[in-house]
Order: sequence, then C-alpha cells, then structure tokens
Amino acid sequence: MSNAPEPRFIVDNNVAKLARWLRIMGYDAISFKGGDDRRMIDLALGGGRVLVTRDRQIMKRRVIASGRLKAILIEQEWSQYQLRQLVRTMNLKDAGAFSLCVECNRTLLPRRREEVEDLVPPHVYRTHTQYMQCPSCRRVYWQGSHWAAMRRRIEESGWNRDGDTPVRKEDGEG
Ligand SMILES: [Zn+2]
Repeated sequence: MSNAPEPRFIVDNNVAKLARWLRIMGYDAISFKGGDDRRMIDLALGGGRVLVTRDRQIMKRRVIASGRLKAILIEQEWSQYQLRQLVRTMNLKDAGAFSLCVECNRTLLPRRREEVEDLVPPHVYRTHTQYMQCPSCRRVYWQGSHWAAMRRRIEESGWNRDGDTPVRKEDGEG
C-alpha cells in the first residue's frame, strides 16, 4: 500500500512491464503473477484497482462487460506502444513520478547522503546529494542518467503532454 493517487492498478502477467512504468509515473500498481483470472479479478474488485491486461477473454467476463470492474485491454504488442495506449486511455499525468519503488510498489523515503554512502557507487556518492530508499527492498534511488532516460520515455508516451499542472485531490473535486 502507498499514498499514490488514483487510479490504482493491477497488471496482468502478459503486460508485466507496464506495472513498472506505472510505478515510475507514481501510480500504485501491483503485478499479478498467477494464472488464476478469478483471483486477479477478486483482487482488482477488493482493492478498487483498474485491471490492465492483453487477454481478450477476460474482457468478456460479465463483471467487466457490465462495467462493474474497469479494465483496459492493451492491444499493442510493443512495450513503448503499450505504454502510450495506457497513458492516453487513462489520461495519466505526473502523479508524483519517482516516488514509488519500481520493484515493490512501496513509497520511497528520503535519505541523507551519509546514510547511503555504503549502498551506492563512489562516483554517485560524489556527484549526488539527494537520495530515496525503498523501506522494503532497501534499494536506493537517485536522479541519475537512467532516471532522465525513463522520464524521456514516459514523456514520449504522451504523459503530461499538454503541460497541465497535476490536480491534487485537495484542489479538485469535492
Ligand atoms: Zn523496493
């Protein structure tokens, strides 16, 4: 669980990479690894999550066809196009990019430079002052070149394209 904004997602095995991209963009996304569709649907309903899948058969289930459970059928084969379809269909904006662990879906915690000295390569320690760490897997994150490349890739998918300021919950409806 995290403090990430809505919508939250559950991502089917057949589009597993999209779970990582959703987390990079700041959206709570759990991966479903089993083959039991019924269980995946139960988890989606129980957690109020949008189901992301490439499985056309699942889309025919009554719970989805009736609109009770929101699901996105990913039609594209290549991951960059899949990401673009998801971003555009769900109108995803910057929801706190780089605030979640891409592996665990946990909210990252800020760390002082001295706290991570033994956990990052020396050249990173010398050149970066701001770090985040996953409380679960202990992985350390910093804004390096990999980070910039990921940001470019999600921007190429149409994320934040219109330059809107993300609407925070307390500013928006209600
Ligand atoms: Zn982690």
